Amino acid sequence: MPELSGQQPTLEARSPFELRVDLGKDVPEKDVRTALADGDMGFLHSFTTGSAVDGPGVRVVAWTTGCMWRCDYCHNPDTWTMRNGIPVSVTKAVEELGKYRHGLKVMSGGFTISGGEPLMQDRFVVRLLAAAKRMDIHTTIETNGYLGERLSDAELATIDLVMYGLKTWDPERHRKLTGREIDATLTFARRLAAARKPAWIRFVLVPGLTDDPDDIAQIAGFAAELGNVERVEVLPFHQMGRFKWERLGLRYKLDDVEPPSNDAVERACAIFRAAGLKAY
Ligand code: SF4
Repeated sequence: MPELSGQQPTLEARSPFELRVDLGKDVPEKDVRTALADGDMGFLHSFTTGSAVDGPGVRVVAWTTGCMWRCDYCHNPDTWTMRNGIPVSVTKAVEELGKYRHGLKVMSGGFTISGGEPLMQDRFVVRLLAAAKRMDIHTTIETNGYLGERLSDAELATIDLVMYGLKTWDPERHRKLTGREIDATLTFARRLAAARKPAWIRFVLVPGLTDDPDDIAQIAGFAAELGNVERVEVLPFHQMGRFKWERLGLRYKLDDVEPPSNDAVERACAIFRAAGLKAY
């Protein structure tokens, strides 16, 4: 089974904005299937260390590859294809994480697993999170929630915080924006609420696409009723991922979209706050 070697980009990246393609292309299909079934190996775009924006405190983040959604504003489309990632054994990934365990504690931080969509590799992710918990590291997963049913209740218990995206409320707009239905994400959100699992919601504000105040108010009302949402992060759309779409030969629809103004972000935050949520 291929492992990291000096010929490949290192697992650690300055940020997920590094374009990474085909790093796992030589892994035979049957090994991919076995890996997905037992979680012995996963595909990672990269590790970043010292992140202050992917959960509480300072974090080590593992970015997985593989996503079944196709969000128009995705800034890391190289993570859509699992084989774009580096094949990494779970042992190696845990060893890498272990190097930071003491520092993470000192900085009240932890380990976040993001993507791509981490639950595309649910067995690998579950094993990584369980190992982090055994090292007494705070754990967070960032997910679109679509495959939340892949986690058993016991596996969910190894996750201290779930960050999930609510992209837009209107089902038709959601389908157009992401290529998938919203229902599974809402079901997962309700399950987290029933389990009283701390959750943060991420909402990307895209002018002309997700900035309808009534739509935002619907998301806010839903989130407020759940009772487990500790904060909403309103993330202003940006164009930092555009070059990846171009380099991958993908049609990018948002060429002419400008990032939202500070006022627009503040207005979106105000809608969430009016529903009783903390929004930043
Ligand atoms: S869910 Fe995330 S990784 Fe997947 S397409 Fe959407 S923004 Fe990109």
